[in-house]
Amino acid sequence: MNYSWRPVELLNGIRAFALAPEGSARESGPANSAAGAEHTALESPGLVTTRRGGVSKGPFESLNVSFRVGDDPASVKENRALIAGSLGLDQGACARPEQVHGNLVLRADGPGDRARADGLVSASGDVWLSVHVADCVPVFVFSPDLRRTGLAHAGRKGTAAGVTTNLLNMFKSAFRCDVSQLIVALGPSVGPCCYELDSHTASHLRRECVAQRRGRFFFDLWKANGLQALEAGVREENVVMPPACTSCKADLFFSHRAHKGTTGRQMAITRSGGLRLKGASVRENGRRD
Ligand SMILES: [Zn+2]
Repeated sequence: MNYSWRPVELLNGIRAFALAPEGSARESGPANSAAGAEHTALESPGLVTTRRGGVSKGPFESLNVSFRVGDDPASVKENRALIAGSLGLDQGACARPEQVHGNLVLRADGPGDRARADGLVSASGDVWLSVHVADCVPVFVFSPDLRRTGLAHAGRKGTAAGVTTNLLNMFKSAFRCDVSQLIVALGPSVGPCCYELDSHTASHLRRECVAQRRGRFFFDLWKANGLQALEAGVREENVVMPPACTSCKADLFFSHRAHKGTTGRQMAITRSGGLRLKGASVRENGRRD
């Protein structure tokens, strides 16, 4: 089964990108079809929020999920509650890696924060996994039956340290599964169009993932993490690339680069058994912003 990213609007107005099987049913909603949107009941292996649909103000407008960026904590709490509520998730059942730009991936069969980790895998429906991102790549991995799932945070340092390789290795050792059947999906993140770095930093990265344009250097985080998946044994057709560059689309996403460091974070979410996006409308026909 092939998966792709689909822009969705959840019931309370939260805008997100959800993974969906290609050609999956879109049940037309009679009330909504005139507005160019369609109702659907998506069974999604994973989702990444955008910055739309929350209550934060200023540079955190509006769906910031991070307490660490200078936003009003009350707004962050409300945003997190809105997201969990729209997906029917219990906030107390969230497991999250601390995110230290490293490559440690752990198995999480219960909730709570995992110190020093940047990725988690789980086969328990009692817990959902999340990472927070604003340019870094949220890397999803899941089995075709959606029962086993994993999620990692991959910025430049974590990518260079092989966090996606470790995510797949942990998945393989924890669940003894056939890697060639797994699906890996990279969520919205900064693209090779916008990720400029200096020549010194570029010289330490995989050569085929750095492009030189008019004497400037650009890192391709997407390719770097995609290659790690392929080298671990994932089939090319099972690697889903990001639907958008967060820096190019800084009106829709928080982008560390585009907003010069003062910005919020998106939430990436996955759960063993999948997420049920009941009543979500799929935005189509030029409204794919
Ligand atoms: Zn870009």
